[in-house]
Amino acid sequence: MEAVTRTKVKDLLRTEPGTEVLAKGWVRTKRGNKNVSFIALNDGSTINNIQIVVDVASFDDDLLKKITTGACIAAYGTLVASQGSGQAVEIQARKLVLYGEADPDTYPLQKKGHSMEFLRSIAHLRPRTNTFGAVLRIRHAMAFAIHKYFNDKGFVYLHTPLITASDCEGAGEMFQVTTLDMNNVPRKEDGSIDYSQDFFGKQASLTVSGQLEGELGAMALGEIYTFGPTFRAENSNTPRHLAEFWMIEPEMAFYEIEDNMVLAEDFIKSLVRYALENCMDDLKFLNDMFDKELIERLESVVKTEFVRLTYTEGIRILEESGEKFEFPVSWGVDLQSEHERYLVEKHFKRPVIMTDYPKDIKAFYMKQNDDGKTVRGMDVLFPKIGEIIGGSERESSLEKLEARIDELGMSHSTLEWYLDTRRFGSAPHSGFGLGFERLLLFVTGMSNIRDVIPFPRTPKNCEF
Ligand code: ATP
Ligand code: MN
Repeated sequence: MEAVTRTKVKDLLRTEPGTEVLAKGWVRTKRGNKNVSFIALNDGSTINNIQIVVDVASFDDDLLKKITTGACIAAYGTLVASQGSGQAVEIQARKLVLYGEADPDTYPLQKKGHSMEFLRSIAHLRPRTNTFGAVLRIRHAMAFAIHKYFNDKGFVYLHTPLITASDCEGAGEMFQVTTLDMNNVPRKEDGSIDYSQDFFGKQASLTVSGQLEGELGAMALGEIYTFGPTFRAENSNTPRHLAEFWMIEPEMAFYEIEDNMVLAEDFIKSLVRYALENCMDDLKFLNDMFDKELIERLESVVKTEFVRLTYTEGIRILEESGEKFEFPVSWGVDLQSEHERYLVEKHFKRPVIMTDYPKDIKAFYMKQNDDGKTVRGMDVLFPKIGEIIGGSERESSLEKLEARIDELGMSHSTLEWYLDTRRFGSAPHSGFGLGFERLLLFVTGMSNIRDVIPFPRTPKNCEF
């Protein structure tokens, strides 16, 4: 009997009764009476548990006592049709092996429901809850679907650097990377820090975006995407911002803004469709537990056409809405999430792709429109989230790009390599960035971005 190899719970639940099986996993619950015990065992392969039926008389009392919530065990036995409701099959146990105990007095994940705040404080154990199991499996499925989507379309996965000496967004929200001794920082004559003595011989930071390097890739390989961690030292303690988050950034030669919009819409829809087709057990659980409209919302996004709206039209709608916003709206302001959500949830009741933003609220590299006031930026706005994608057609004219860099008082010297894309064989091109965790907020229905990443990094929080 011991020669049987382990079967994952997901597969056990689809196996014909009558087979000798071996299950391994963590005990979710144990209940029963003095004759029979029922152990619900989970191994992370699915949201569902396998039930193990234990005839108490045939097992050692001490062993059974140690099999409590959180303990890790192996169960050998026969898979039989279940007599109880709720599962098709269960294991009639013949032998149990205890791998690791979980003392009921100290193991924090007992049966009762825990608040999300409490679970964040034990992020090292929360993957063992149904909720985080579901979220992390969906996170995996979405990562896989992203690579599949681009691979199927012939995009090249480009690895852009995480350490950089340029500030892509120019927003000054970068984490510095240094090996200088903070207690004895070398200084130049004028008192400023002497970065020539630092590891890279100059000031360096963690990247806020892989876009600039992505553009270099697109101007050689045609269509590329990046998918990696990005870092922003923005002090925004919101449910939608992390200091370390993952971003997907496709960048395409010969795409104008319309092509960019078509790709963004198709991309998001295909990811949501993938989740509906491959993660239904987990989605059903999250739908029942947290967000009764989740599946309906996902199905509706796949079916509906996104609205195309210019920033100027959007501002007019907001001004005429009669709504009291916390941040007042007028042409030129950066839209807040409350504005974006009004347009998406109340006005159009559909996702919106907003374009042609005032140049002063967007980055230097966006293609300038002929009106001299707006640029060909493009944000995709989603229900519950607000901005989920930010992108643009890029300025391909060297002259215009340099003029904008001067206008903003940025330094050319750290961007010469970037300007070479416009100097040599420049081409119209576009791209966008999708925040992976914002996508996951939408797909899982979770309401805080800290709950869709295994170990969130936010201001004053870098545990685990
Ligand atoms: P926001 O206005 O919401 O801060 P942003 O304009 O700074 O977003 P971009 O610089 O365009 O965002 O970045 C591209 C995408 O990355 C965004 O659309 C969003 O999905 C995601 N994103 C940006 N900042 C964060 C963050 N701090 N945490 C998680 N995701 C983020
Ligand atoms: Mn931001």
